[in-house]
Amino acid sequence: MGGAGKVFQWHWATARPMSIAHDRTAWIKGADDLCHTPAAKPARPYRLVLLGAPGVGKGTQAELLSECLGACPLSTGDIFRAAKSADDCGTSDAMRTALDAMRRGELVSDETVLALVVERARCLRCGGGFLLDGFPRTLAQARALLVLLATNNVALDAVVSYELPIDQIVARLAGRRTCGKCKAVFHVTSRPPRAEGVCDHCGGALIQREDDRPESIRVRMAAYEENTRPLAEFFRAKGLLLTIPAAGSAEDVHMRTTSALRARG
Ligand code: AMP
Repeated sequence: MGGAGKVFQWHWATARPMSIAHDRTAWIKGADDLCHTPAAKPARPYRLVLLGAPGVGKGTQAELLSECLGACPLSTGDIFRAAKSADDCGTSDAMRTALDAMRRGELVSDETVLALVVERARCLRCGGGFLLDGFPRTLAQARALLVLLATNNVALDAVVSYELPIDQIVARLAGRRTCGKCKAVFHVTSRPPRAEGVCDHCGGALIQREDDRPESIRVRMAAYEENTRPLAEFFRAKGLLLTIPAAGSAEDVHMRTTSALRARG
């Protein structure tokens, strides 16, 4: 995605200079010839993993970071949601099993997730950098990611872990709305769209995700505690972890993140 060409001017102090419409078709569909992101070359490509419980705001932060760093936001959840809305006839057995797990709020198997990510390794090699959101989610995925990156001669700059008390997370999930078209994320109270139910970016309809229902939320939280929380220690031991308090507005959290990244150098 976004090979050579345009040079981004990014100023930490002022933030938000360089908006780029990332075409995530190649990531979402897994095909090599589908990336139409305008050629982009940030002065420094950032390669980050965003960690945190479901609903902590990773998707929103990925979007904000993408605007200022130029890196492409890559969510594994978006791959599954796109497959769900695609024509069932084109869906494989593995994908059907994955979508069943997703509907229940459970994790998809490491094997399926890793196969999808390996198929999309081109997005990880991209000169524009990447922001992984929702992957890795288990220790096996984290280890596999590091091997995959090493094989592709790229390294992570940092793993940003967003932390928030559980009651605040549940409130965020219940009010979350996602654009059915461009996947931008809003919240009915803390990040409302300009017009109710309509995406600010593309005019698409805003929807509540199926897995944001209370029964799925409980299963997803349990899966997070069991499988994903240990990743913070795994990455801390590798000197990659940046812990960011996720309370407050999306802008506050964004500024905390960019300050921490800048301090890291
Ligand atoms: P997300 O949008 O990241 O919350 O992902 C939505 C759902 O997709 C999750 O609840 C899982 O069912 C599935 N999923 C996404 N990414 C992964 C992953 N890395 N490992 C396992 N399951 C995943």
